[in-house]
Amino acid sequence: MPRTADAPGRAGSAPAPSSAGAEAVLAGLDEEQRTAAQAVTGPVCILAGAGTGKTRTITHRIAYGVHTGAFVPEQVLAVTFTARAAGELRTRLAGLGVGGVQARTFHAAAMRQLRYFAPRVLGGPMPPLVENKLRVVASAATRNRLTTDRTSLRDLASEIEWAKTTLATPEDYAKRAQAAGREPPFEADAVARVYASYESAKQRDGALDFEDLLLVTAYALEEHPDVARQVRGQYRYFVVDEYQDVNPLQQRLLDAWLGGRADVCVVGDPNQTIYSFTGADPDHLLGFADRYPDAEVVKLERDYRSTPQVVALANKLIGQAPPRKGLPGLRLLGQRAEGPAPRFLEHADEPTEAAAVAQACRALVEAGTPASEIAVLFRINAQSQVYESALADAGVPYVLKGGERFFERPEVREAVVLLRGAAAGGSEPGALVPTVRDVLASTGWVEHRPPAGGAARDRWQSLAALVDLAVDLVAEDPATDLPRFVAHLAERADAQHAPTVQGVTLASMHAAKGLEWDAVFVVGLVDGVLPIAQSLSRPEAVEEERRLLYVAVTRAREQLTLSWSLVRNPGARRPRSRSRFLEGLVPGSTPSAAPVPRKVKKAKVVLEGEAGELFERLRAWRSSTAQAASVPAYVVFSDATLQAIAEARPTSTRELAGLPGVGARKLELYGDEVLATVSG
Ligand code: ATP
Ligand code: MG
Repeated sequence: MPRTADAPGRAGSAPAPSSAGAEAVLAGLDEEQRTAAQAVTGPVCILAGAGTGKTRTITHRIAYGVHTGAFVPEQVLAVTFTARAAGELRTRLAGLGVGGVQARTFHAAAMRQLRYFAPRVLGGPMPPLVENKLRVVASAATRNRLTTDRTSLRDLASEIEWAKTTLATPEDYAKRAQAAGREPPFEADAVARVYASYESAKQRDGALDFEDLLLVTAYALEEHPDVARQVRGQYRYFVVDEYQDVNPLQQRLLDAWLGGRADVCVVGDPNQTIYSFTGADPDHLLGFADRYPDAEVVKLERDYRSTPQVVALANKLIGQAPPRKGLPGLRLLGQRAEGPAPRFLEHADEPTEAAAVAQACRALVEAGTPASEIAVLFRINAQSQVYESALADAGVPYVLKGGERFFERPEVREAVVLLRGAAAGGSEPGALVPTVRDVLASTGWVEHRPPAGGAARDRWQSLAALVDLAVDLVAEDPATDLPRFVAHLAERADAQHAPTVQGVTLASMHAAKGLEWDAVFVVGLVDGVLPIAQSLSRPEAVEEERRLLYVAVTRAREQLTLSWSLVRNPGARRPRSRSRFLEGLVPGSTPSAAPVPRKVKKAKVVLEGEAGELFERLRAWRSSTAQAASVPAYVVFSDATLQAIAEARPTSTRELAGLPGVGARKLELYGDEVLATVSG
């Protein structure tokens, strides 16, 4: 915390208080926003919907405080959830003529403070961060005699993360996990043991993980009065954006920063809570006024971002959610001029959907919308590849948020180098596809699709995309050989590598939080993707998926297109249905019955008709298999996996392998029996 050298009140960059500047700052706000901006001291809570100007209000509030001399910029700490959002805050503040304010993520702020105080509180320099968390979790699992695959390893890591962000210790993990309705990949006691081993392994290596950064910083403030005095002397005014997604660990750090003071302004929208699965808890936002009875609570309803058409759709979507306790019904009132009606488009398959989106982007750009004012939003990062290709084919530049561009992915780069090497050695005419497969096989790639959700699956998909490309080129021209293929890859890579400052944004819905574009395409809206398959057995997880769609649609200023495709690949047989959240939104459809708010501790999977019958058969098979092997049933397959199998009715090992929770080992152990059960 290098700035601590500046004694409070003596910070050099504070502009002289200027009432003209302050007035100008207020002029850009409506009445309610102004009330919040002028409440520069004491607790303030802005509880409002998407696009109502929450972020705008807090930046103006900071600027107002600085211009009136109430704040010394260096004493203001504004925290938010993504580095991009923090950057956005800094840019907006700079635009209002304010410099010197710290706008950071919780992690960045903690890291900076801890680095400074490490010698004092840890007795040495800042410890390194854990480089490969999964590896540490894996060896902790092995030490506890658990056999893991990629998926269960990631699930274990998320459980540990959830435990740490909700301040659960290995001792109380089992109890807390049960109360929270978690579905850990192993028995809770086993997870708790892995959690304990993971913690001691880290301690032995003298390393910290991301959660430790916050935990240790909070501890430093709580236990070291001199550190607390210095940090609290430095930071006097706190602002938290997107406060609905604060988790108990972040709240603890915030409390440690405040040290009992109340100069804190929080803003958030409970309908945009999209990180509950990692421990975020909107009750911090909803309970703020109880915690600070003298808080200025401001509600905003006017939506300045989106056209009334987009606003109406957003209201309808969130209006279909079951009512939540303590949640005020926030309805948005569109302030902008009328715009086009949102469009709903159904496509035959994903490549067709992507091509249509790419053409629409191109048409918008040609009609004058800057590419940087367009976004394509999807549920999971693996969906980006088909859009990257389609945009490249359409000659539309793009930027990928929170992910790596296709040709920059390490596995793709490696494959391209190998293919180039193979092409240099000459090629057999008419054998492009098998040759490409052979070359990829030398990197360890197999035809078999690993289960969804893991890094192995991402890697597999990247390489499979190269094979698909070879198949396409041969279909166009059977004479395509390896050198031509390699040349084609180089052209595509160039098209995508072209430096793009101005490009269509490709982003996950999570990464789009807080941002806005003129035109937004929300794509891939099929059941099982949104809501995502893993959420289907838990109604509250499905509701979080609905909020995610709410976040996505409220990013659009004017044009909003929602689309889905009936099958994934051309010619595939397994039909999919459009997202259940679209029922009641698509003109002519009726809302699907809102799920009853959950009372039961653990959700029971309810499937109807044939799927229900198959699910029961699979359960019967599972219980006899588990009994024969003397293992608990969930070790064979979880309910969620059985449900996915019952819904998908796989007819081949390959289809089965594509389902969540079906790893290579399980496939080997149970694949044939499951397929036999499915075929009856
Ligand atoms: P989200 O919940 O998505 O984070 P938000 O409530 O933070 O949204 P902002 O991003 O602050 O909303 O504002 C949405 C858009 O509306 C921005 O372009 C902002 O500049 C504009 N806006 C907000 N308030 C006003 C206002 N009083 N006058 C004009 N434009 C406004
Ligand atoms: Mg915002």
